[in-house]
Amino acid sequence: MASALVGCPYQVLTTIHPMSASALSPPYEAAFAALPDAAFLLDDTGRVLACSLAGARSLGLTVEQVAGRHCAELGLQPQAVASLESTRAQVLASRGPVAVELPWPTMQGAAPHAVLLTPLPSDGAAPSRVLLTARPLTEAEAMYARALEVEQAARAEMETAERRRSFLYQAMTTLFTHPPDPQGMYTLLAHLAVPDLADWCLVDALEQGPWVARVAVASLDPTQQERAHALPPRTEMHEDAPVGLLRVLRTGEPELVPAVTDSLLRAAAAEPAHPALLRLLQARSYMIVPLRARGHTLGAVTFVSSDSGRRYGPDDLALAEDLCLRASLAIDNARLVGESRRAARAREDLLAVVSHDLKNPLGVVQLGAALLTRGAAGKPGSEAVAKQAARIHDAAERMSRLISDLLDWGRLEAGRLPLDASEHSAAALATEALESIRPLAEAKGLLLQADLPPESLRVRCDRGRVLQVLGNLLGNALKFTPLGGTLAVTVTARRGEVDFSVRDTGTGIAPEALPHIFDRYWQARDAASRGTGLGLAIAKGLVEAHGGTIRAQSVPGVGSTFTFTLPVQGPGPTGAPPPGLAPPNL
Ligand code: ADP
Repeated sequence: MASALVGCPYQVLTTIHPMSASALSPPYEAAFAALPDAAFLLDDTGRVLACSLAGARSLGLTVEQVAGRHCAELGLQPQAVASLESTRAQVLASRGPVAVELPWPTMQGAAPHAVLLTPLPSDGAAPSRVLLTARPLTEAEAMYARALEVEQAARAEMETAERRRSFLYQAMTTLFTHPPDPQGMYTLLAHLAVPDLADWCLVDALEQGPWVARVAVASLDPTQQERAHALPPRTEMHEDAPVGLLRVLRTGEPELVPAVTDSLLRAAAAEPAHPALLRLLQARSYMIVPLRARGHTLGAVTFVSSDSGRRYGPDDLALAEDLCLRASLAIDNARLVGESRRAARAREDLLAVVSHDLKNPLGVVQLGAALLTRGAAGKPGSEAVAKQAARIHDAAERMSRLISDLLDWGRLEAGRLPLDASEHSAAALATEALESIRPLAEAKGLLLQADLPPESLRVRCDRGRVLQVLGNLLGNALKFTPLGGTLAVTVTARRGEVDFSVRDTGTGIAPEALPHIFDRYWQARDAASRGTGLGLAIAKGLVEAHGGTIRAQSVPGVGSTFTFTLPVQGPGPTGAPPPGLAPPNL
């Protein structure tokens, strides 16, 4: 009879026992106790109504001791209890049996068992009782379960690795697409860490002198953020801090504390700010990771676990270190960009002062040269005087161009070149540039050609700056084209763009020199006439500030063609900055 019960407990128990009764009557209880497997009859709350002898023995208890206990009190591991409870609820809701594998307590400790939960109907109403049987897994089943466990662990590991990769990728793109500003980076970094890595994230930066400043705080609950402001925003560095931020800043080594204990708080007492912070944030576990770049410690990031109750381990530390490594690069980069901008601005300011001071005496020299050329009382002076006056005039012109070039370059580099954009006819721009060099070209015996589109083709640009670019290209073409040569300007429209080309039949540029001609201060060693070497660099900067591009083609002995392209729509609201330069102020 006992084996029949186990083989078909559902039918037997429904027929032999009235399900409305709250307890089994003695004969049925005895029959239940005699079942060869571990079997338990649970009531609607999960309490044991009856238990087999084998079941009680498996738990190291007697039948009497087990009866009346809740299934959570049978000595199962907490995870097994949770699984049992959710399966019991599932069984009652679905009204069908469910099998699960659980570590079941045995005399030799927990061992994997197959646990079957079967709902027992009660007089037509919804089932409220559950029959639970447990048996040890067979060897094959145990092997299968282990293989399943290994596979699940491997899958979980892969998922964790994937999550880490995507977290770091997102952090990287966020940090490096952010405008380079260290304070912005600190704030971003703190917010990146919460909630994926921490309940609280604090960023501290080393300042000049012995000070450490709190530069960013983020918390899971933004309304709590005020709590962190209760602490001093700056701390003085000292050499003997045994644990915490100051130790990490001093040693450059990270600190991982899986559990904040009283002894740790006592050990940290030498540096009172540290235990105060841990108490204030109700820290249960924390990590402090230094921010380091080019051999220097820039600051440190404190990751705190509080309400989540999470305990940090080596894997978390590795992830935090990866994040801080990337953040350090971004912060260092932002600092360098800031420094170079400041240096460029300082140089531009210096250039502005110097050139302003130079322009006045230069104006006097130019005026003097003009007067000398005209001669006293409007009569031309001697030939010798006129010759010297022309020389002075040329030298003063070159000086004036040099000053303008230096000023323009300084402004371009500092991203402070203003563009005054409005709509202009592309053909009119080209004609104006050509006409301005016509007298010189004719004096040199050069042929001028133009291939221009209708007046209606308009381009949005800073007229003065585009004429400056064309003037520079035509000036070079004039300089490097011998007598009898040709200078041609072509303007063509493409989809959304206008191409301006300046072609000459001059000396051309050597192939090895071609990649360098737009570099600042670059000039061919045998350049016929010495300029500043800034002309093409400025032309490139001006074209790019309009959102355009410039290129050169050349064949030595045949000639050169410079082409620049401007978008018809013109520069955007901030202008398109040349690579490495900030957007110009429009
Ligand atoms: P600069 O202000 O000294 O003229 P640029 O930047 O305008 O300097 O030009 C740099 C160098 O490029 C010149 O010194 C010259 O060697 C070369 N170059 C530019 N345009 C031409 C050209 N049309 N033909 C030959 N060489 C050219």
